[in-house]
Amino acid sequence: MNFCEECNLACDGERCPKCGRKKLRAVRDEDFCFAARVDRTFGDNLKENLEREQIECVLMPYGTGVRSKFALPLESYLLYVRYKNLEHVRQILNNKNA
Ligand SMILES: [Zn+2]
Repeated sequence: MNFCEECNLACDGERCPKCGRKKLRAVRDEDFCFAARVDRTFGDNLKENLEREQIECVLMPYGTGVRSKFALPLESYLLYVRYKNLEHVRQILNNKNA
């Protein structure tokens, strides 16, 4: 598995599917990787649940355009977790959608 440092994205191929960069390095267990875009409420709950399992995650507010200008709450987060937890977290996300 490779890792794009620009996008924090783990990918199979030699080229980052998001930015097209080819200078990727091998992913490490500790790398924070993009997992999913989640809505605010779900993100807050998920963070609590993950912390209970001692899994670190980072939530980046998504959509800093017009809404933040008017001081409206942001609707979603971009979720990042360490690569070693990525599969586990993806499974949680899949279960949520099932
Ligand atoms: Zn990239």
